[in-house]
Amino acid sequence: MEQTPLAYGLTRDEADVLEKIPALHFVKRRFPGYVRSIEKSQLFARRFARDHILPRALEVEQQAAKDPEYVDWEYVNEGMRQGFWTMFLPKSVGGGGRKAMDAYVICEEMCAADVALTALLVFNFFGFATAACAFNPGVMLREMEDIKAAERKGKPLFYAWAITEPSAGSDVEDPDALARARMSIHAKKVPGGYRVNGRKCFITMGSLAHRIVFNAPTDPDHPLETSATFYVTSDREGFSVGRVEKKCGHKAKPTAELIFEDVFIPEEDCWMKEGTGIEHTLEILSITRGLVGALGVGIGRGALERTIQYAYEKKVRGHRLIEEDWVQMAIADMLQILNAARQAYAGVGLAMDAIGLFGLFQKPAVRAALRMLPGWLARTGRLQQALSGDWIHELFKRLKANAVPGEVVSYFLNVGSAAKVNGTDAGMEVASRCLDIVGLEGAARRYGIEKCFRDIKVSQIYEGTNQLNRKEVFKEELARQFDISII
Ligand SMILES: Cc1cc2nc3c(=O)[nH]c(=O)nc-3n(C[C@H](O)[C@H](O)[C@H](O)COP(=O)(O)OP(=O)(O)OC[C@H]3O[C@@H](n4cnc5c(N)ncnc54)[C@H](O)[C@@H]3O)c2cc1C
Repeated sequence: MEQTPLAYGLTRDEADVLEKIPALHFVKRRFPGYVRSIEKSQLFARRFARDHILPRALEVEQQAAKDPEYVDWEYVNEGMRQGFWTMFLPKSVGGGGRKAMDAYVICEEMCAADVALTALLVFNFFGFATAACAFNPGVMLREMEDIKAAERKGKPLFYAWAITEPSAGSDVEDPDALARARMSIHAKKVPGGYRVNGRKCFITMGSLAHRIVFNAPTDPDHPLETSATFYVTSDREGFSVGRVEKKCGHKAKPTAELIFEDVFIPEEDCWMKEGTGIEHTLEILSITRGLVGALGVGIGRGALERTIQYAYEKKVRGHRLIEEDWVQMAIADMLQILNAARQAYAGVGLAMDAIGLFGLFQKPAVRAALRMLPGWLARTGRLQQALSGDWIHELFKRLKANAVPGEVVSYFLNVGSAAKVNGTDAGMEVASRCLDIVGLEGAARRYGIEKCFRDIKVSQIYEGTNQLNRKEVFKEELARQFDISII
């Protein structure tokens, strides 16, 4: 079948985010620059997806199916050149200053082309996000400075966030479940730091990561009370990468097991002390789940746009398949399903920029502090030590807790989890119905629709299964308020 693309979706060469998220018209009246930036982000991501993802997505996935460690370095280098590593760093430290809504819209757009290639570039924002959630000024500035330097040199710096382990997946994402979890990893307190033994599994970018942020209890019999957040570089003695997973989707980015054998972690690399590790985990999830909602909408959209293209070309009974009434109804249905899920993630993105962590970096005092204290200065000897010290970290944590208090994190867990379920379930329904329309040919690799189906299935499972995310919504919305127990 000859492909003559309709100028629709990814192939339309203009931003249409205002059409797709009508609430932005209202926001634009008050904050025209903010909305202009979102439009620019969408167009940038659309062009990047069209020029660099769509042409290689099927080929890269096939390579990665044969070898799960396969990485398309030419693609990664292009991402570096186009600023993916620094685009989410605050402008005040020389980053791109893109905000939560930019990230969500970029994610939808690029995932319509391929989710794994998107993650390979976008998910390194964990470097900034994990440090920002811990909010230790010395650490934040050091990481931001290193990310900028890596991009300048064109040498990718990969990050992984590792909480899942063989005996605890959903359990590490929920305080009640963590209290009962049997964790295999253990960070034993020793003079000057901790000795870590155990494993993490299914870690995105695990085999590539130069820097890993992970959680571990200091007493495995009391995982909730003693869970802490640590930072390790992959060259540390005793650290190694185990199995790189063969999985049904998300193939173009590696997902790996991480092995800790008596790894020494110095005191200063314990980012969140015993008992506060779960706070860090929940805050990260409160940010990333909305993003996964956008990712789900993107994958569904990718399936739908490929199906529309197919139905536009395909002839049945002397006319085009897209002229069949049942196909038009199905397409309209799918458009509205994705549209509803899009509004859910957009609401979270807008709120995140207003009252969440991204908004915090827009506050004049934080901007001024970052500007006054360049990272290279923070990296110099004593000042670095002073900025990373316990007392200053405590002070900064308190400042952050005032600006983004626990209730706000809980709120984002609620709406973010809802957006995650919404986006990935919508993507699943759409990908499945697209296969119904395209029929047998839809199962063929060359159309990319069956890949969307496999990719969206994985997306329902990770970042907390959708069942666990539903429980989170119930807990935040009702159980807490009305003292309803959750088993
Ligand atoms: C491609 C991919 C990338 C990933 N990347 C990362 C990463 O970068 N970092 C990371 O840390 N992890 C990562 N993960 C792991 C992912 O987050 C976990 O797979 C997910 O949280 C589910 O955990 P599990 O697979 O152990 O399932 P389990 O927790 O074993 O769940 C099994 C079943 O039990 C149900 N269940 C479990 N607990 C409850 C409960 N309390 N209430 C009700 N039902 C429950 C679940 O819904 C599910 O149906 C990744 C996974 C994949 C597939």
